Amino acid sequence: MTDLEFKQQVLDALSATFCAAKWYNATIWLGSGMTTSCHHPPAHLVDRDKVQANPRLLHNTDQKKADRKQMLAGERPSGCEYCWKIEDMGRAAISDRVYKSKIYPIEALHEARNISWDQDVNLRTLEIAFDRTCQFACSYCNPAFSSTWVRDIRRNGPYHNLVSDGRNHFTHDHANAQLYDYGDHNPYIDAFFAWWESDLHRTLQELRITGGEPLMSGHTWRLIDWFRDNRGRSSTRLAINSNLGPQTDVYRLIDSTQGMPIEIYTSQESVGKQAEYIRDGLDYPLWLQNVQTLLDAGITVHVMCTINALCLTTLPRLLNELLVWKHIYGRERVNFTLNILRFPSFQSALVLPDNLRNQFKNDLEQWLVSNRGHNYLHEHEINHTQRLIDYLDVVKTPHREAFDMPKLHNDFRQFYSQYDLRRGKSFSEYFPELREWYDSIQV
Ligand code: SF4
Repeated sequence: MTDLEFKQQVLDALSATFCAAKWYNATIWLGSGMTTSCHHPPAHLVDRDKVQANPRLLHNTDQKKADRKQMLAGERPSGCEYCWKIEDMGRAAISDRVYKSKIYPIEALHEARNISWDQDVNLRTLEIAFDRTCQFACSYCNPAFSSTWVRDIRRNGPYHNLVSDGRNHFTHDHANAQLYDYGDHNPYIDAFFAWWESDLHRTLQELRITGGEPLMSGHTWRLIDWFRDNRGRSSTRLAINSNLGPQTDVYRLIDSTQGMPIEIYTSQESVGKQAEYIRDGLDYPLWLQNVQTLLDAGITVHVMCTINALCLTTLPRLLNELLVWKHIYGRERVNFTLNILRFPSFQSALVLPDNLRNQFKNDLEQWLVSNRGHNYLHEHEINHTQRLIDYLDVVKTPHREAFDMPKLHNDFRQFYSQYDLRRGKSFSEYFPELREWYDSIQV
């Protein structure tokens, strides 16, 4: 069944806005007690007291139950704007609602349709972050997710003169994102391990650990040890998001997970020096080496591309690198997704002037024409590439809260000039193809 057939015949038959992710998937940040389903809608707080009596409330919050009720009635929860925007493009565009529902058995979708919207359900796929410890400070990240970003803000103060960043990503250290230090009693982490023991180790198809950098968190290694010490008790596939940068010990990971179902997800959307500029802390040759080491050890690697204004020049080169790996290791062993960055809005690809945006769109079109017949590409990889081409072509504002374009341009220039000073980089040197436009932005 194609993605479009699945949408029309399965999902739309349940309701015009049904998405199984609201029932069976969650992202939970245990350091702050926040959650969302799927990862696109804004996060909200889990009740710290109630969750100690009922760990299932880590996921089954009042907000999510209200969203489920809306979906069952064919209404659009506002937090799911990411999908509605894609679907409103027409052109039979496939939103994540399809991809995030298709991974579950059809019976599970019917079960979600038939139970009451306010019933607690056990998760089938879960992404958790134990804490925000991370040795990277990527340009599109912020202190809520990276301790290195926290150090930047604490040492150098807030970023100034950003007028479109209504969420104030870069003006404070986001202390609320890490309410407990490692070793503190954290009721959310207690609740997670309690729910893991009672249900989750049986019901989860996949547990994905994110961060920060999870391989720098002791809780991640506690969980890996659980799998090692409880072989056969759980068939949950373990997936770890890792930046595969310095201080990530891939050899320890390979040793500790021998014989376990484990996959690695790693972020990358460009190559070489440009990648190191965007993802501050990255050592691109080391990243290549670590991916190869994991592939050689039989571990599947998923590359998550966060599509932003700076990555489009070299994105096709990265995709070519992935095709080479697919050729060597097999189509199933290396996968990629193209995820469109929405926040911070001024880093969206849509801030680029028409000539550059069109040039990058044409480059991608050409890449797709040359490779779409390649049997190493998955259907979702072709669809993701096509939807990015469509996005660059037809969507004119980054998201509905975005300010007007002059403000986004102001912030683009303001941000990167301050980023350069703090990180010892030079935008114009790293991105010669954007230099003329960058220099022309008046602030
Ligand atoms: S944003 Fe899309 S994929 Fe995520 S829960 Fe909402 S409808 Fe589903």
